[in-house]
Amino acid sequence: MANVAQKACAACKHQRRKCDQNCVLAKYFPAEKSDDFENVYHLFGMQNTLKILKSVEEEEGDATIESLIMEAEMRLEHPVHGHFSVTRKLSIEIEKTETELEFVRKQIQLFDAYAKEERMSPTEQLFCNKLLGHRNVIGQIMLMTSYSLN
Ligand SMILES: [Zn+2]
Repeated sequence: MANVAQKACAACKHQRRKCDQNCVLAKYFPAEKSDDFENVYHLFGMQNTLKILKSVEEEEGDATIESLIMEAEMRLEHPVHGHFSVTRKLSIEIEKTETELEFVRKQIQLFDAYAKEERMSPTEQLFCNKLLGHRNVIGQIMLMTSYSLN
């Protein structure tokens, strides 16, 4: 049986050159990953991609290329700020959620204080005690914020 010719990787195909066993990018950009290669190529260029890949240890190659692919995709989605847009959006979301969590903690403290002073009706106390018993379960805490004692 004749030798099966190596299918050119996405990088070699793009550059219209023969892909052989010495091709550094074949491992990371097989033919079916041509979109990923195109994105990385347009953002970083061939020389920079190779330079970045050379600057890391061999075992970090996969993660490095994965990062370049992700950064290139982010840049396509958010042409001005790239991944910074997503990071910023998530930071705002975390900040909002932490504020909400702090509010819920304060509510729990309040319920705790009320429960100790026994100023609530038995039903309200039961509800508070049930919630306080599950204070580590976020779902229960979120339930509390939408629940009115009146
Ligand atoms: Zn190649």
